[in-house]
Amino acid sequence: MRLSELSRDELVALRTESQTAYDALLERGLKLDLTRGKPSAAQLDLSNELLELPGAGRYTDAAGVDCRNYGGTQGLTEVREIFAPLLGVPAAQLVAGDNASLSIMHDALVFSLLKGTTDGPRWVDQPVKFLCPVPGYDRHFALCEAYGIEMVPVDLGPHGPDLDQVRALVADDPSVKGMWVVPTYANPDGAVYSEEVTRALVEMETAAPDFRIFWDNAYAVHHLTEDERPAIDVLGLAEAAGHPDRVFVFASSSKITFAGAGVSFFGSSPANVAWYLGHLAVRTIGPDKLNHLRHALYLRDAEGVRRLMRAHREILRPKFDQVAEILTRRLGEHELASWTDPEGGYFISLDVPDGTASRVVALAKQAGIAMTAAGAAFPYGRDPRDRNIRIAPSMPAPADVAAAIDGLATCVLLAAAEQRLG
Ligand code: PLP
Repeated sequence: MRLSELSRDELVALRTESQTAYDALLERGLKLDLTRGKPSAAQLDLSNELLELPGAGRYTDAAGVDCRNYGGTQGLTEVREIFAPLLGVPAAQLVAGDNASLSIMHDALVFSLLKGTTDGPRWVDQPVKFLCPVPGYDRHFALCEAYGIEMVPVDLGPHGPDLDQVRALVADDPSVKGMWVVPTYANPDGAVYSEEVTRALVEMETAAPDFRIFWDNAYAVHHLTEDERPAIDVLGLAEAAGHPDRVFVFASSSKITFAGAGVSFFGSSPANVAWYLGHLAVRTIGPDKLNHLRHALYLRDAEGVRRLMRAHREILRPKFDQVAEILTRRLGEHELASWTDPEGGYFISLDVPDGTASRVVALAKQAGIAMTAAGAAFPYGRDPRDRNIRIAPSMPAPADVAAAIDGLATCVLLAAAEQRLG
């Protein structure tokens, strides 16, 4: 029966039953971690061939450049050509970098703050605000917080943010300089931006002439179903809308090959690529081209990436199904929580009764189940409704995912019963 319809006696019974289950959970002394969306060892093993590449005596790219040496700031052509069709960015407008797209986002932000974009003076002398669709990625918010950028939350739906909110915020306030977007299988709620929403974002009039969309396509090819939808040509749409320089595209192979040793990408208009490379040239004399070569030899082409992602899906999908099955079985009848059923990406977003997420996460922690901090998916770590919990099922073994989610469900029930009884 629905939690809201339970009588006081039934609630007391639920609390007693949940407390007993929770005490048993404490007895088990679990040590499980569902905090971060890391690939599992089985997923990393898929790319172990990289450890043998490029192989002794092999160090030149297709153009004959010695990859052991300095230079080539834009990155190897072959690796850019592999990812260009997957990201919907022409290879000439794509930069291949080192192992973390987060570093590129950091740099793009800091270059804008200290040097200005192609469209205006440096941001650091003015108040700067970023729109943050919520729930969102905690590290995007950490970047803003670290550099004094005020974050303005906007509601994120399954196909993108609330456009009325976005349009109203950008229209009159020139300090709104940017916006975070995770367009495909957003972290954490799996939203996929539609072409219609994308078009609206690149077309809308903004008070700031140097407004930038930080389009972080981290999960562009991370499908959990057979519907392998292609990336939206956001740069083409922006150009057609008369705002060719509005969008910075970011991506990486972190969750394709090795999370700590992949290749990252920056894509944008020709003017923005020249701007980025100009500043980058001060920071580095070139990326790790041997890693580019290794990836090009291993992945071969876009189809090679798609094949590899299907192998990831085989490993990941059962874990996601298991989470859905356990949450439905344990929480479904009480209709007290809702959770996403993502078609890709790395996360399930769980909404528990308002005001209980922190308590649930604390109970889980005490029972040895580490969850991402409640509120982490919101700017400044503040979930105004204290209801959202991010579940990252990729890393633990299937049996551990099951034990952790079952334990989490016990914590949700206990916290909800406690709250209703006051
Ligand atoms: N962007 C999003 C949305 C992510 O979820 C993550 C990792 O969880 C990253 C970026 C990190 O990417 P990278 O490993 O390329 O720095």
